[in-house]
Amino acid sequence: MDIGKKNDIITVKIEDLSEDGSGIGRLDGYIWFIKDAVIGDTVEAKIMKTKKSYGFARLLQVLEPSDKRTEPLCPVARQCGGCQLQAMTYEEGLRFKENKVFNHLKRIGGFENLRFVDEEGSGEAAPGSRTIPFYRIMGMEDPWRYRNKAQVPFGLNRGGEIVTGFYAGRTHAIIEQEDCLLGAEENRRILAIIKNYMRENHISPYDEDTHRGLVRHALIRKGFRTGQLMVCLIINGRKLPAADKLVPALRELDGMTSISYCINTEQTNVILGREIVDLYGPGYITDYIGNVKYRISPQSFYQVNPRQTEKLYGTALEYAELTGTETVWDLYCGIGTISLFLAQKAARVCGVEVVPQAVADARANARLNGFDNVTFFEGKAEEVLPREFEENHIHADVIVVDPPRKGCDAACLDTIVKMAPRRVVYVSCDSATLARDLRYLCDRGYALEKVRCCDMFGWTGHVETAVCLTKPDAEQDMEVI
Ligand code: SAH
Repeated sequence: MDIGKKNDIITVKIEDLSEDGSGIGRLDGYIWFIKDAVIGDTVEAKIMKTKKSYGFARLLQVLEPSDKRTEPLCPVARQCGGCQLQAMTYEEGLRFKENKVFNHLKRIGGFENLRFVDEEGSGEAAPGSRTIPFYRIMGMEDPWRYRNKAQVPFGLNRGGEIVTGFYAGRTHAIIEQEDCLLGAEENRRILAIIKNYMRENHISPYDEDTHRGLVRHALIRKGFRTGQLMVCLIINGRKLPAADKLVPALRELDGMTSISYCINTEQTNVILGREIVDLYGPGYITDYIGNVKYRISPQSFYQVNPRQTEKLYGTALEYAELTGTETVWDLYCGIGTISLFLAQKAARVCGVEVVPQAVADARANARLNGFDNVTFFEGKAEEVLPREFEENHIHADVIVVDPPRKGCDAACLDTIVKMAPRRVVYVSCDSATLARDLRYLCDRGYALEKVRCCDMFGWTGHVETAVCLTKPDAEQDMEVI
C-alpha cells in the first residue's frame, strides 16, 4: 500500500475524533490524525509523519465542511493550541467528551450495561435491572470567560514593543493575544495598564534567552462571586521600580483588592517564585464555591472554573448520600474543596493530601469556615490510609477520591476494599484510569451505580467525571436492620 510520504497532499474524510480532539480519517485502511479537522469534514492535508499503521497530517483546507463545524471565535485558536475543540459547536464538544468517557468505561472497564439517560431521573434503571445510568454531561450556561485565573507572559515583538500573549508551540516567541476568551473581561484592561506603566517607566519585559529584563508574567485572579481582583507581577529582580505609579492605576478598576509582586530570579519555566511582596491590600482575595469561603493568595491552588466546580462537587456530595452521622474520607483532597463540601453534611471528614502547602491551605479554609469536624493528613493516600487502617483501626462510611491523572495506587484501592465503606464516590479527570480503577473495585465487591460528567474546561479536550459505587451487601444489611 502506498500511503504517501512527507509533504505529500492527501484528501481525507474525517470519521472520528481522537482522545485529544484531532480528526481521524482513513485511506485504504491506514489511519490519519489531523488536528483542527472535525467529524464530517472532507479536508486536504499535508503529510507530516508516518508510522506503520497510522500517520499525522497538517490541515491545509476544509474542502467540504461538516455540519458540526463552527468558526472559532478566537482568532488565534489554531496557533495557541489551548483550546482543542473550538472548530466544533459547544454542543458537539460536549457530546465528544461524554462519548469519550462512556467508551472508556465500556472498553477498558467492561461496563457493558451503561446507558445514556437524558434527564435527571427519567429512564433510571428499574429495580433489579442491571442497567447503569450515565447521566447527560453538565455543560456550562455560558462557555466563555469561565477561567478565574490568567498567567500571561510579557515580551517584545519584532518592532521592539512590549507585548503580552502566549508562547507559540515549544518556542519562546510570544504570539500577541491580549484577550483570551476563556478569561475574565478585566484581564485586557489590567494588561494594558501594566504595559503602559512599563513603557512610561522604562521597565523591560524578561527575555528567557538572555535571562535579562524584569517583568516575566502577570498573574491575575478574580473571585467570580465576590468580584474581587488580584494582580501579581512576577519579576526577575528583587524590587519593582516606580510601584507607586502602578498601584493607583490598577486601583481604578472596580474590585481591585490585592496588588503584589513575586520575586523569581531563577532560570526556570516555573512561573512563581517563593517570595511575595505586597504593594496594596491584604495579600489575598476571597471567593466562594457553594456556601464555602476560600482565601486565595497568589500561590494558592484554587479551581479555575468555580461555577462548574460547584456542580461537580455538588454531584459528588449528592452521590455520597450523607445523613449527618457518617465518617467520610476524602483522598487526594488538595486544598479541601470536596472535604469542606462534605463537612456540611457529615459527622466527620478526614482529608489526605501529599502537598504540604495544600494541606496548610485546607486547614486554613476549614478554620475560616468554622468547621471543627475535619482533619487533614499530610502524605500519600496509599501510605496514610493503610497505616491509619492497620494501626488506628479507622473506619469509613463513605470514601471519596479525586486523584490526579494517573488514578489511584493499587495499595490505596486494596485498603478501600478492606475498609468496605458503603459508598465510594470517584471524581476523575482521566476516564481511562477511572475505568481501570472502577473495574478493580467492581471485581472486589463493589457495583457501579451511576455516572455523570461535568464540563469544567470548555473548548478543551478535558472532561471531569463523578461516579458512585456501592457495596451491595452493605446496602442490604442496612435495609434488613
Ligand atoms: N479536590 C481537590 C483537587 C484534587 S487534584 C481540590 O479541589 O482541591 C489531586 C490532588 O491529589 C492534588 O492536590 C495532588 O497534590 C494530590 N496528590 C497527588 N498524588 C497523591 C497521592 N499519592 N496521595 C495523596 N494526594 C496526592
